Amino acid sequence: MPMNFRFSDEDEKLREEIREFLRAELSADLVEAGRRCSGMFVARDVAQVWQRKLNQRGWGAVHWPVEYGGTGWTPAQLFIFREECARAGVPSILNQGSSLLAPALFAYATEEQKAMYLPKILSGEHYWCQGYSEPGSGSDLASLKTRAERDGDDYIVNGTKIWTTHAHFADHIFCLVRTNPQGKPQQGISFLLFRMDTPGVRVEPIITLAGDHEVNQVFLDNVRVPVANRVGAENQGWTVAKHLLEYERGGGGVAAGLKIALNELKAVASEGINGQAPLMADTLFAKRLRQLEVNFQALEFMELANLARLVSGEHPGSGASSQFKIASVDVEQTINTLRLEAVDYYAVPNHTLVSLNEHAGERIGPAPAEMAGADYLSSRAASIYGGSHQVQRNIIAKAVLGL
Ligand SMILES: Cc1cc2nc3c(=O)[nH]c(=O)nc-3n(C[C@H](O)[C@H](O)[C@H](O)COP(=O)(O)OP(=O)(O)OC[C@H]3O[C@@H](n4cnc5c(N)ncnc54)[C@H](O)[C@@H]3O)c2cc1C
Repeated sequence: MPMNFRFSDEDEKLREEIREFLRAELSADLVEAGRRCSGMFVARDVAQVWQRKLNQRGWGAVHWPVEYGGTGWTPAQLFIFREECARAGVPSILNQGSSLLAPALFAYATEEQKAMYLPKILSGEHYWCQGYSEPGSGSDLASLKTRAERDGDDYIVNGTKIWTTHAHFADHIFCLVRTNPQGKPQQGISFLLFRMDTPGVRVEPIITLAGDHEVNQVFLDNVRVPVANRVGAENQGWTVAKHLLEYERGGGGVAAGLKIALNELKAVASEGINGQAPLMADTLFAKRLRQLEVNFQALEFMELANLARLVSGEHPGSGASSQFKIASVDVEQTINTLRLEAVDYYAVPNHTLVSLNEHAGERIGPAPAEMAGADYLSSRAASIYGGSHQVQRNIIAKAVLGL
């Protein structure tokens, strides 16, 4: 594994082009909307503004193959793009359509389905949500119970999906349904696409610990979905679903954003709040911060090692992406925990302000206090979604340790 990884001259030239684009197009308003977002993803209207700008530049989905409107960039170039976006403070936009659904469509959809959906994902016209999890079927997804029964050229869908991120903004959902209750659970699942305004679809909010409305429960009551909206063969939806999950757990370019947060943490911990001694003077806190820095460095190396493997044509494998997910979430959660301690009593009143009005722009105390409470609470979910830490560890046990 080449640990002396270097980007080529061509890659560095692209980095400059990306920086130029970001300087020209990433407005202060967009960065501010991203910074003030107390949940995981900015609202749909903000996301669409950025998506349109990206699409106009030909970068609506940089990771897609050229034939579908992607860039055909190498893994190193994709990494540079993500890294520069994180450094510049690009708002975090929900990418269920471009990053999760699209790879499944490339592999399993009909030409008609591809022509219908892919251009609208690129342009930002369609906004997708992911209907996988159900009450009682999260980690054990294959046990899902939402039924789809054939009625002529349609399926009639009944059941419920939960934790559906941005279902209240989405106009479309990709949904796993049970089309055969017999036999192995994985063999009776189908993959359907439908509009959220189809009669019988009802979205109820779930307010998170952080006070946000980001996730929902979706109720499906006799929802009529044309059989033509199925991706892949009937009862073969698990294959499509698994293909898509590989993309959910991938990633890269994460360290750049975490480095900014880490540096901000070090700055606030080195100043005293209201004349008190800086927290860095506390030996125990300083030790935890140093440990965090070590973990962050390990994460950066891990990211580059994964990239080096990708560049040399190797697939990092599910074990490596699980390790990376655990390591990056641990660093993110620790940064947020220490920042909460560093801003001291300012966290709570700021969090109250943030939850009352996300974009009010008011603040009490030092700048990092503004989002400290919200970020701390919202990042707790990161060790659950996209496969919980425990589930990732099971994958490592099998794929890496061979247990
Ligand atoms: C913020 C957020 C956004 C989400 N967005 C979406 C979305 O858009 N679409 C969607 O479909 N889903 C979404 N999810 C759901 C997410 O995928 C599930 O929450 C996750 O898969 C865990 O499932 P569960 O909540 O049913 O917990 P469970 O699977 O019931 O797990 C409960 C606990 O048991 C542990 N556990 C479970 N199985 C094992 C095992 N085999 N070995 C060891 N420990 C185990 C888990 O780690 C966890 O600690 C989201 C979740 C969150 C928190």
